[in-house]
Amino acid sequence: IVEAESEQFVYMNPAFTEMTGYTMADIPTQKLSFLQGPDTNPDTVAQLRAALAEQVDFQGEILNYRRDGTPFWSLMRISPIKDSAGVVTHYAGILSDISWQKRSQEERQAHHNQLAHVTRVASMGELTAALAHELNQPLTAIMSNAQAALRFLDRETPDVGEVREILQDIVADDRRAGETMRRIRRLVKRDVSQFRRLDVNRLVKEVQVLTRQDLVMKKLVFQARLAPDLPAVQGDAVQLQQVILNLVMNASQAMQSIDGGEGCITITTRCLNERTVEITASDSGPGIDDRMLEKIFETFFTTKANGLGMGLAINRTLVETHGGRLWAEIGPGQGAIFH
Ligand code: ADP
Repeated sequence: IVEAESEQFVYMNPAFTEMTGYTMADIPTQKLSFLQGPDTNPDTVAQLRAALAEQVDFQGEILNYRRDGTPFWSLMRISPIKDSAGVVTHYAGILSDISWQKRSQEERQAHHNQLAHVTRVASMGELTAALAHELNQPLTAIMSNAQAALRFLDRETPDVGEVREILQDIVADDRRAGETMRRIRRLVKRDVSQFRRLDVNRLVKEVQVLTRQDLVMKKLVFQARLAPDLPAVQGDAVQLQQVILNLVMNASQAMQSIDGGEGCITITTRCLNERTVEITASDSGPGIDDRMLEKIFETFFTTKANGLGMGLAINRTLVETHGGRLWAEIGPGQGAIFH
């Protein structure tokens, strides 16, 4: 409890001493700000000050410091106490230590981001390895058969029958390669029977939460312009979220390549008709050369040093499994737009 006029402590309970390390004898006579330290948010302090000046209740999360200098997050609630004439004489404050809640919140967020990243990298790495392994065999067979056929043709009297057999082998190997591609496609597509009714706006909001920390660190803004009257769609939440997440990651990487100015990613949702919802991702990055608008969707096409070139190819397959389309456009001003 603090006296209003002098801002001096008149009472503190043992729990306060235990939490902060301060006793009545330690409290500096003048300043009420003794609990604040270098990383205390000045905006929160300003709100607290404003509430005191207006003689109203204050409640907020604030980073405070113990007597030994260690910081702790606390929930601070302060209320004015009035005398019978209605004059504020004292303030009563309650401090709750919420450090562990803050910590577990941050850990959860970090874990979430990590998980999203690992899943993405792992699935792409696996897919690339599988593709390389499975295609290597038929490609090697096609090559040696074609070389054999050339040797047969180079003979003085070419054996057409031999060459025909060899060409049939080549056709079979090519079919095998095609079948491998289809199998891998099916792997990516998963099962249509897992489709559920989905709220597209919710998917966008979840991606926003998932990428928040990463984008804040890169000083990028995520703007969601969500249509309020969207019909539900049939789909696989994980797959559609993977598509949106990938578009956001690409936008964030594209914007990092231009320096200065705060980049902005905007995800818009729109109802085209009762059967179709459109999701648009636009950014303020360098955009896409108009000759590249189709090429970027090709498997293994990348302009990044560490890129795999699988993201947009997988995205397109996933969207098409949902009966949709995915295409890119050059923005009216700057940046790329994906529909
Ligand atoms: P990766 O991200 O591994 O390069 P993607 O298939 O996701 O693979 O992207 C292919 C290429 O498309 C990128 O290397 C980049 O050149 C281009 N691209 C994708 N998104 C954007 C964007 N938002 N702005 C500019 N270029 C982009």
